[in-house]
Amino acid sequence: MTAPAFPAGTILGYPRIGRRRELKHAVEAFWAGRIDADELERTAADLRAATRERLAALGLGRTDSAIPESFSYYDQVLDAAVAVGAIPTRFERLLDADGRLDLTGYFTVARGEGADAPLEMTKWFDSNYHYLVPEIGPDTAFAAHADALVAQVREAREAGFVTRPVLVGPVTFLLLAKAADDAPEGFRPIERLADLVTVYAELLAALRDAGAEWVQLDEPALVSESIDEPRERVLDAVGAAYDVLGAAEARPAIFVGAPYGSLDDALPALAATPVEALGLDLVRGTAPERLDGVTEEALAAKTLVAGVIDGHNIWRGDLERAFAHAEALRSFSGDVAVSTSTSLLHVPHDVEDESALDARLVGWLAFADQKVAQVAVLARGLAEGREAITAELDAASASLADRAAAPGVRVPAVRDRLAALGADAFARVDYDARVAAQEDLALPALPTTTIGSFPQTADIRRARARLVKGELTDAAYRELMREEIARVIRLQEELGLDVLVHGEPERNDMVQYFAELLDGFAVTQNGWVQSYGSRCTRPSILWGDVSRPAPMTVEWSQYAQSLSEKPVKGMLTGPVTILAWSFVRDDQPLGDTARQVALALRDEIGDLEQAGIRVIQVDEPALRELLPLKRADQPAYLDWSVGSFRLATGGAAPATQVHTHLCYSEFGVVIDAIRELDADVTSIEAARSRMEVVDDLSASGFDHGVGPGVYDIHSPRVPSVEEVQSLLERAVGAIPAGRLWVNPDCGLKTRGYDETVASLANIVEATQAVRAGA
Ligand code: GLN
Ligand code: ZN
Repeated sequence: MTAPAFPAGTILGYPRIGRRRELKHAVEAFWAGRIDADELERTAADLRAATRERLAALGLGRTDSAIPESFSYYDQVLDAAVAVGAIPTRFERLLDADGRLDLTGYFTVARGEGADAPLEMTKWFDSNYHYLVPEIGPDTAFAAHADALVAQVREAREAGFVTRPVLVGPVTFLLLAKAADDAPEGFRPIERLADLVTVYAELLAALRDAGAEWVQLDEPALVSESIDEPRERVLDAVGAAYDVLGAAEARPAIFVGAPYGSLDDALPALAATPVEALGLDLVRGTAPERLDGVTEEALAAKTLVAGVIDGHNIWRGDLERAFAHAEALRSFSGDVAVSTSTSLLHVPHDVEDESALDARLVGWLAFADQKVAQVAVLARGLAEGREAITAELDAASASLADRAAAPGVRVPAVRDRLAALGADAFARVDYDARVAAQEDLALPALPTTTIGSFPQTADIRRARARLVKGELTDAAYRELMREEIARVIRLQEELGLDVLVHGEPERNDMVQYFAELLDGFAVTQNGWVQSYGSRCTRPSILWGDVSRPAPMTVEWSQYAQSLSEKPVKGMLTGPVTILAWSFVRDDQPLGDTARQVALALRDEIGDLEQAGIRVIQVDEPALRELLPLKRADQPAYLDWSVGSFRLATGGAAPATQVHTHLCYSEFGVVIDAIRELDADVTSIEAARSRMEVVDDLSASGFDHGVGPGVYDIHSPRVPSVEEVQSLLERAVGAIPAGRLWVNPDCGLKTRGYDETVASLANIVEATQAVRAGA
């Protein structure tokens, strides 16, 4: 086939939640029964229409397939599962006679219903987005359901556009899938590739019929080394899938996107197939001069789509360098286009919506809309020559220079202090000496505690909203929070917990709370990004050197401790998690930034100790999340991440008991790192895996305190005394009772009080029973 020309500039995807989170609000209204499916569909169609118009106004072509159809009601992997008919058997009752799901059914698969668990959710590559994991078995009856995709192509056509449908590619779809529960032992979803590809071919044909000229198939799994499948098999799958799809008679031209890293040996594999265009992430991935020479001939026949505008961060960045990278691809192919490195799903809509941000900072930023405009500029430069865009390149370079020189970006005092640190700053005295120094805490065997937050009630959230609106004075707000803390302390005393928490009512979010109090951060008003489904987060912007102008948590912790004879934990968020859940500066290594945050936390720990706090928890739920996709990058990451935690906690006196909390149980490659954190006590998720993690930990030589969570806080279910008791007995077998702690899997902020009180009462009772038996 002769492919239509690929557009000169494009993006891999656009935020779909809406500039004012319109989709979130409509979807949640639909769930609550306040609007019907028709109204939700109308809102979605309006959003798609507004997005197309906006992207065209920002410089993407209306009729050259430059605009991607990247809308989703919930998740793009779920959409792919629906499009190929891969709905788990437990949800078959939701399908109509033609095997289709209506909107209610779609959301049921995403969210579960009664005893039918939803699809599992997990992290999308190294982003903060979470997708739903397809379940594939030998009998999964794939069937093409192109209606939703086709409807979008038609809807666009009616509005005068020719857009580009986007779909998760077949190889990535299967590599991200898990084996269905009823699949035989050893079954791998990738075994179903041939069947799935047949269905993809049907989808492509339907899209062609509807008028699509290009289709985008996203294959990010090809860049990841964390895929649990031999590389050979992955590369074979690439060839098998795209040879077949490419050979189809009636199809749109195929653009394979490969965001989040470099394709490495998957590039020659893809280049050898008949696909027309290849997307290269030149921000995270291979620089053009390092493209594998062997593939040059094959590459020459492809459109190379240079992903040079960073879809992962919010910086305006180095446009000159981006242009140079795109131009350099021309030595491999005469046909080069410009795009973002990833979908813009990971960045907020528009800097123009941030009226409260410092104007100088605004000049350094590019959210989704600004990045689209950058793509358009570079595309023009490729077409007309550099002279055509000199003004834009110069303006971007001037902005970079302004940023580098601005006060606060590099603060000598912060840098000098870091440079002067010796190795001793990263280490505490021996664990045994610490255990001895902490003996006067007089904790019972199997101490009971919680992870930090107590339910964030409607009253708490209302108080915070009123404070923000100016309806509540700071003093009145603080008084309300103190009352809440007093209630939470009283409740824990009544329940008989051993190590208490203040409940974190004053925190809107465990990262933003600190970002608002540290220098070097800015907080946005509308900078929402989708985390999963209808959930959005508003990451702070870490733009400068970090320091702590004043204590951040001491007053609250001190007040809470004054109400009880029992130890109350000071509660901090660790450096890695603060970085992972913020937009971080891109002008220095992450490790340098992490150490700056660590120093601020170190000072906070010192102040907490001064205030009489004996137990301090530094949460690192994101330690695993930030792990690089390429194995070669992992040791350096683990080195700085562990180092920053040790720097934060290394100044704590031996008598101070340092805890950490991690939100997952599949440690894999981070298990040694967890031991090296050298926390006195580590609480981890364990209930869903029935405490298997305690075996893994023991096997790895972990010999400090550990609190494997005894119940899952993600659902309102109250665990019975017997259930908790049996989990504890299981744990006591693997970990000496002297080092074992008893706690839930995670914080309680999303729970209600009824189930919280009942659950905690049961774990205290179960602990007493185990103590009596031991
Ligand atoms: N201390 C936090 C809380 O209890 C920890 C949350 C987390 O691990 N995500 O809410
Ligand atoms: Zn947690």
